[in-house]
Amino acid sequence: MFHRVMVAGVGALGSEVVKNLGLMGCQSVFLADADVVEEKNIAKSVLLREGVAGQSKITCCLTRLRNWFPQTHWEGEAAEIADIAPKRFQEADILFSCVDTDLARAEIAALSTKYELPICDAGLGGTSTRVGRVSWFPGTRSAGCFACLLSSRRRAELFSQWESEVYACWARESDAENTWTSTPTMASIVAGLQVELATSAIKNADASFSVHLDLDRAPVSRTIQHHRSMECPLHVEAPATLFPICTHAECGQCGSQFSPDRRIGWMRRWGTCPACGSRELIIRESRHGQLTGTHG
Ligand SMILES: [Zn+2]
Ligand SMILES: [Zn+2]
Repeated sequence: MFHRVMVAGVGALGSEVVKNLGLMGCQSVFLADADVVEEKNIAKSVLLREGVAGQSKITCCLTRLRNWFPQTHWEGEAAEIADIAPKRFQEADILFSCVDTDLARAEIAALSTKYELPICDAGLGGTSTRVGRVSWFPGTRSAGCFACLLSSRRRAELFSQWESEVYACWARESDAENTWTSTPTMASIVAGLQVELATSAIKNADASFSVHLDLDRAPVSRTIQHHRSMECPLHVEAPATLFPICTHAECGQCGSQFSPDRRIGWMRRWGTCPACGSRELIIRESRHGQLTGTHG
């Protein structure tokens, strides 16, 4: 079993995962999710109740979890997983990835190989609402990571989203990916499989694999083995700064200049101009790691 657990994302899937971790009596669980609760989330999560729209998801979930499972030590931060302090990753036994974009999965893959932390990832939907997938990535340099499974073109596209300095219309792109459709029962089934699979894989699985679940087909599940891609750059010696930090930005609307000191990936999703609130920001200077070697 695992004692110190991290969970990235407490949406439909993540809520079910943390509920299972509570039922299993995990020693301590740390949650990361930067979102605030929207009205449409409430009916989809066992952890949310009426009247919490607009509040931080983390705060709402922690309140409920501490109440339901007092034997587990629950902590969390209203932040993206890439902004969580290194100490958390160093102390954790496993990270459950319950995010819903490939970009977030790629960031988690980079963190996993950097800290040699096993990842159990899951996703819902795709070809039908009764489809789901659970993947195991041991987090060793020799095993495949999420980014190894991508085409080199897709991998470059994702890495450029957290690396590149100039990006004209970044504001809405990440939302377009967020189109999964599923049901609360499917979220519950896949989250159950995710925790169950991790419980056995952490003892002996040193290679990566996925279990694909399709309740519309026979057999309903099949296992796919994954190998490390020699083109994936995440397995080399870890750079000091994994995700480039934007040190100087300019607003495309009002022209005001400021020093955000935040990850470029964070700026993409959350950054606004402190003067006028515009999301049209231009990265002028940044501090880089050596992930792809294409920037100075
Ligand atoms: Zn890889
Ligand atoms: Zn502005």
